[in-house]
Amino acid sequence: TTFTDLGLAPAILKALDAEGYSSPTPIQAQAIPHVLAGRDLQGIAQTGTGKTAAFALPILHRLISNPKPAPRRGARAVILSPTRELASQIADSFKAYGRHLGLTITTVFGGVSARPQAHALVKGVDILVATPGRLMDHMGMGNLRLDQTEIFVLDEADQMLDLGFIHAIRALVKELPKVRQSLFFSATMPPAIGNLAAELLSDPVRVSV
Ligand code: AMP
Repeated sequence: TTFTDLGLAPAILKALDAEGYSSPTPIQAQAIPHVLAGRDLQGIAQTGTGKTAAFALPILHRLISNPKPAPRRGARAVILSPTRELASQIADSFKAYGRHLGLTITTVFGGVSARPQAHALVKGVDILVATPGRLMDHMGMGNLRLDQTEIFVLDEADQMLDLGFIHAIRALVKELPKVRQSLFFSATMPPAIGNLAAELLSDPVRVSV
């Protein structure tokens, strides 16, 4: 399989070429067609497998295929990550793969000033990468609503639970629209994680690498 075979937009293929990616990794080959088709996905994959591109590439494709303004005080795609380091890396990947697309990408995490984050959220962003605590803070301050979210990603779900984010995640998921696309990734899938996935996902495709 090639990235072209997967049906990604030419402007995305061009960015992948510049990144030096010659072919999809196994998680990318398995996941991308289903995500492009709008399915929910439950993925078991470790960091290092190319998991970030497995969700970022089809999300970028879907956003540009259905162009619309980013919702004020909202985001079209919301990616939840357990740590600020990981959130930054994910946002950098979206920026690299989406460099020709003109989409807006913002990160929201703790330990830095909330004001520039608030400003970006109020204007509205296409892609928001966030840690759960600061995301909840912004919702509490009225800077962000999740009810216009088209695509929701929970990354590193097992780490999220280890870090005690389970209540925050359940609270956030309640604010999402019922009709949405959800993607769920974890390195392991013990019962507690499987149950959370079942709450979040609707008729998911399961992939494991
Ligand atoms: P991840 O598992 O998402 O943390 O990605 C691990 C590393 O693999 C990152 O440095 C990516 O830039 C790189 N990578 C992801 N997909 C590909 C690919 N198809 N070809 C080459 N490198 C890739």
